[in-house]
Amino acid sequence: MFSKILIANRGEIALRVLRACKELGIATVAVHSTADADAMHVRLADESVCIGPPSAADSYLNIPQLLAACEITGADAVHPGYGFLSENARFADILKAHKINFIGPSGDHIRLMGDKIEAKKTAAKLGIPVVPGSDGEVPTLEDARRVAKEIGYPVLIKASAGGGGRGMKIAETPDDIEMAFSTARAEARAAFGNDAVYLEKYLAKPRHIEFQVLGDGRGNAIHLGERDCSLQRRHQKIWEEAPSPALNEEARTRMGEIVAKAVGDLGYAGAGTIEFLYEDGEFYFIEMNTRLQVEHPVTEMVTRIDLVNEQIRVASGANISFSQEDVLPSGHAIECRLNAEDPRTFAPSPGNITYYHPPGGLGVRVDSAVYQGYTIPPYYDSLIGKLIVHGRNRVECMMRLKRCLDEIIIDGIKTTLPLFRDLVDHQDIADGMYDIHWLERYLSQPE
Ligand code: ADP
Repeated sequence: MFSKILIANRGEIALRVLRACKELGIATVAVHSTADADAMHVRLADESVCIGPPSAADSYLNIPQLLAACEITGADAVHPGYGFLSENARFADILKAHKINFIGPSGDHIRLMGDKIEAKKTAAKLGIPVVPGSDGEVPTLEDARRVAKEIGYPVLIKASAGGGGRGMKIAETPDDIEMAFSTARAEARAAFGNDAVYLEKYLAKPRHIEFQVLGDGRGNAIHLGERDCSLQRRHQKIWEEAPSPALNEEARTRMGEIVAKAVGDLGYAGAGTIEFLYEDGEFYFIEMNTRLQVEHPVTEMVTRIDLVNEQIRVASGANISFSQEDVLPSGHAIECRLNAEDPRTFAPSPGNITYYHPPGGLGVRVDSAVYQGYTIPPYYDSLIGKLIVHGRNRVECMMRLKRCLDEIIIDGIKTTLPLFRDLVDHQDIADGMYDIHWLERYLSQPE
């Protein structure tokens, strides 16, 4: 087992990883920018190293500085959290070359899944159903027109290097294809320095359903069921739950078996998520994320399995500590992402938290790094915490969530709490009847 882990991240996820390290008896190193000197992860870690100025490019994304921090502290492994360098294949390769363990999959697996055209081809080869579309890159407008005609409008043009919904454009009719094709390419070139695009059938009212997987790198893999992340704004998830209100046991087991086998066949190591769109009883692969996800706690709440603990174990060469038969999800869990943002305009709202009171009680988990008196810096993501609630069934979970949303107090900044207080009272949410467009429709209605 590792003796010292450097956590290459900040905020709630740095704390989350720290907790797993402590429970495994592993020493921790926090890294921070000058803007984060007062952050909770710095205070709670055994050691800390300042790695640069506020800008993420100069600190949390600065590979030479992170290597130096490993060297100085003698850390033998790095946990990247999510975001920042977590899906950077070069970082994984460089650590390996320096004989430092990367707690995540191999650089090659990260690279493979980071290229969405390659990822889709690989998924199809492994027996995972994919969205109908082009066989790889669509290099010219003529090709785009031909493929779109074959699969039928509306179609979606997507960037191979895509992420965060960038480089994605819909063409409703043949009249739109020229514009959609050129803007998707231009956006992809600007955002990723790679303008390769591919084409997919645009699904009108799917749900976003993803499966959590865990592989040991030696051909064994397990799935931990699904999460429903259909409530999205601009392709960003804000509410996640497990199990999905839309799946039955048969569909869950069938898809779970397919993804676990695929991940095993790939020889994948560590935690990963296979994302699908789900419409009319069919699953369509969209991408695989080769890291821990923001929403992993909902899976932990229903399975009672610590995913970060398993990531660390697997990275150290140990076996996964349980078998597929031991995964016995029970009850229901919902996560709300608490962002320091205006609940209506979503404009960032950094600043000082003058009063903070988290909710508590049975089945309640708050993953956050904020505290009373903490000042949220303006340089990073606006996620300040996650409220995760578990109940024996969805009704109990929703009642508990409502109770927690009434209990939590965060003063001094604007947060997305009022939005969640409205959502728990909405009939469609109570019924679990929502697709990936529900939230945008809801937000576009006048108050
Ligand atoms: P990114 O990596 O940019 O996040 P994804 O492929 O994961 O891109 O897609 C993000 C979101 O875009 C999905 O959750 C879904 O809301 C929407 N989306 C992606 N592909 C399709 C499709 N073929 N039809 C309809 N919506 C889609």
